Amino acid sequence: MQIFNTKLRFLLFSLLTFIIFFSSSAFVLEEDGVKNTLKPSKSLYDSFIGTNEVHLKAITTSGSSVSADIPHITGIDTVNKSTFVIKFTTDENATGYYLYDADETGNKSLIKVIKRANVSSYTYKDAEYGSKHNFIIQAYKTINGFTSFGQLSEAFSYKFKVKKKYKNGYAYYLDSYGNPVADVLDFLKKSVYYKIDVNLSRCTLTILAKDNKKGYTIPVKVWLCSPGNNTIQGNYSLGAKFRRRVLFYDSYSQWSANIYGNFLLHTVPYKSYSKNDDLDVDEYNKLGTRASHGCVRLQCVAAKWINDNCPEGTPIHLYKSPKEGPLKKPKLEKLPAWHTWDPTDPTAKKLCKENDCHHIKY
Ligand SMILES: [Zn+2]
Repeated sequence: MQIFNTKLRFLLFSLLTFIIFFSSSAFVLEEDGVKNTLKPSKSLYDSFIGTNEVHLKAITTSGSSVSADIPHITGIDTVNKSTFVIKFTTDENATGYYLYDADETGNKSLIKVIKRANVSSYTYKDAEYGSKHNFIIQAYKTINGFTSFGQLSEAFSYKFKVKKKYKNGYAYYLDSYGNPVADVLDFLKKSVYYKIDVNLSRCTLTILAKDNKKGYTIPVKVWLCSPGNNTIQGNYSLGAKFRRRVLFYDSYSQWSANIYGNFLLHTVPYKSYSKNDDLDVDEYNKLGTRASHGCVRLQCVAAKWINDNCPEGTPIHLYKSPKEGPLKKPKLEKLPAWHTWDPTDPTAKKLCKENDCHHIKY
């Protein structure tokens, strides 16, 4: 009797082990066709095993790892004295990402849970200038209410500091990777004098700030423009500025400023005087090429910035040169025909929000 009991117990135990083993393998088959690239961390896997079938299922289905898909940090863009943008690769099979900052001893603290798989950057605000960081990213996946985690990325070191460097007669503000910062103005004194450079060959407009006695040598901003084949060349100073203006009898601009005679800086034409949603989309899509009758057309962000920041009398130089300026020519994101407003127009932000098409901060 005693022997039978032991045998029975052994048999029951074996059967149970077999069922557990078989069923845990079966979960992978059950989820066949679901490509999943997340790999659970060992400790997490151990803590879930044997506790609950649903947990096990979440872990097992996410266990078929392809290591190449582990998200990693690709770079950091310094924006201004308190903001930078952390960029990373994404994993379409993830639910989202955990972003950490580790100290020198390897202790990591969570900065942000990013709850969308297709988001590929995080804007770090109110950062302490001069601080050091080691950023780590990790994908997570939630199945049936249970979350499993992918492998931690390599730590990406970053020192939040900017250096001023002189090159080819220009003064650049570079981050710790040698890339120019997006918002140089944040690093300059409050009262800044500007010069406007318009390269009629490359169709770019560059704003240069005055660097004391060195002259206008600090590149601040570059935008695309559309001059014409007969646009004037030479040195002028900025004339009167207008919020809205008639260009021709059926053509209107938002922000504009006089250069000389009938030559103006102005936004891409609109079809009515006071609206911001009847932009000439075909003409907008020509920005960065010669397209006007002589005026210099700009995106709203550029025309408004000049109106807000450059007083009358600001020097403006129009010239032809095949050489790239101190800042790279931006690329134009062309608009579809229905997008009848300038995505850089701060007064039309609402339209982009309603259509979920642009999320540009100006
Ligand atoms: Zn838009």
